[in-house]
Amino acid sequence: MTHTLQVDDALPVHDLVGVGFGPSNLALAIAIEEHNLRAGVEAEVSGLFLERQPMFGWHRGMLIEDATMQVSFLKDLVTLRNPASEFGFLSYLHSKNRLLDFINHKSLFPLRIEFHDYLEWAAAKVDDVVRYGQEVAAVRPVRRDGAVVAFDLMTASPVGEQRVYRARNLVLGMGLEPTLPPGVVAGTRVWHTHHLLRRVEDLAVAPPSRIVVVGAGQSAAEAVAFLHTRFPEAEVCAVFSRYGYSPADDSSFANRIFDPAAVNEYFLAPRAVKQMILDYHRNTNYSVVDQELIEDLYARAYQESVRGRQRLRLFNVCRVAEVVENETAVRTTIERMTTGERVELDADVVVYATGYRPADPARLLGDLAGSCRRDDEGRLRVERDYRLTTAGILQGGIYLQGGTEHSHGLSSSLLSNTAVRAGEILQSLVTRRRGRLGPWAQPSAPGARVPEAAEPSPLLMQRLA
Ligand SMILES: Cc1cc2nc3c(=O)[nH]c(=O)nc-3n(C[C@H](O)[C@H](O)[C@H](O)COP(=O)(O)OP(=O)(O)OC[C@H]3O[C@@H](n4cnc5c(N)ncnc54)[C@H](O)[C@@H]3O)c2cc1C
Repeated sequence: MTHTLQVDDALPVHDLVGVGFGPSNLALAIAIEEHNLRAGVEAEVSGLFLERQPMFGWHRGMLIEDATMQVSFLKDLVTLRNPASEFGFLSYLHSKNRLLDFINHKSLFPLRIEFHDYLEWAAAKVDDVVRYGQEVAAVRPVRRDGAVVAFDLMTASPVGEQRVYRARNLVLGMGLEPTLPPGVVAGTRVWHTHHLLRRVEDLAVAPPSRIVVVGAGQSAAEAVAFLHTRFPEAEVCAVFSRYGYSPADDSSFANRIFDPAAVNEYFLAPRAVKQMILDYHRNTNYSVVDQELIEDLYARAYQESVRGRQRLRLFNVCRVAEVVENETAVRTTIERMTTGERVELDADVVVYATGYRPADPARLLGDLAGSCRRDDEGRLRVERDYRLTTAGILQGGIYLQGGTEHSHGLSSSLLSNTAVRAGEILQSLVTRRRGRLGPWAQPSAPGARVPEAAEPSPLLMQRLA
């Protein structure tokens, strides 16, 4: 059975459709908006973004009230690309009448809830190019004369509505997916930090007496501090294989690893040098914690030892050997890695802060993934402009926002380079459009309005089945 669609000229074609509407594709939507304002109708780029969440949301499950950003507010959605943009964090503060208060606060690192509010504010300003509640389930090639001239994105909404959107270019900004250790299955009492705030609401009815938190990174430390405060009678057990929480290196020279210039240099480096850079500077981002938070946790543990009631318990150089969930508790076996000694604890909940991995584009691309080149380690090849290296039959580009650490370096999944990357992707699209005129390369007639998507015809759905 073939998944190939023939050209259906009735379907409107967007210059690009973005999958996901987190900060990365939001920054791109803004870059397009600003480009269109100055480019004139002939050079306009038509973009549409599909987001599975019912509204804008940036890691809502970890919007802990006092958690702060790990990146300067100046690395917002636009400033490094266009410091005069109206979409900057300072414009947001001004619109909220908080600019002076923020300045007097003397911090480069806003609260995460404040940055979320900024992102929502910016997303609302480009609301017309986003369709929420649309999960892209598959991408199919649209062929003409042997070439793939466009992509069809098949979406499903929570109410079962299916739609097809057609694009000359794709920008995949699907972000990160939470990961659990092998063999661990999320359940009523076994959670990933990704859902922390939502799941904690369920505990409010019957406050827990013991919670285990697994991991030693920023999310783990934040979860420990949050749960320790939120449930003042509960014991919070932190389990990790390190000796202690280690600080994130956010010193000035090391921070340059996130600069746009570092992306260039990394991209051009031989593979061994890339690996060396990643290894040297892993502690800017992975399994590390803000110094202030480390000090806060240490102070809590120390004060409790003075008072003689240890509620915050650290199981360092330890691993969770087994979790068995039953009706009333999770029996958690913790193994000391130096001696092999084991303890069993009955906890109300085990929270895994075991990180994330980039969403795999190949899963969505289906047959198209076969036209994407890979390196000899099986990783997708990515050009400097974030376009996947594809077979010549693909006329349009498939761009990645995220999942490019192997090619573009450590800022791949972070906000640091979001503004600049969005500008580079847009520039690539515009330049390629000028250079090659495919069947739909001409922009629509000025002022022409086309429907943005189609209900798939029964015949089309049959072909896709
Ligand atoms: C708790 C937490 C705190 C963080 N704090 C910082 C920080 O302070 N500084 C920093 O630089 N980085 C931080 N990060 C890293 C984070 O990756 C970036 O902040 C940012 O989220 C990257 O944006 P994104 O748009 O690429 O991905 P995401 O924000 O993950 O957005 C991807 C979007 O795509 C949607 N999506 C996925 N698949 C589909 C599909 N098939 N169809 C439709 N929609 C889909 C998702 O619903 C989501 O909204 C943090 C990460 C976490 C988890």
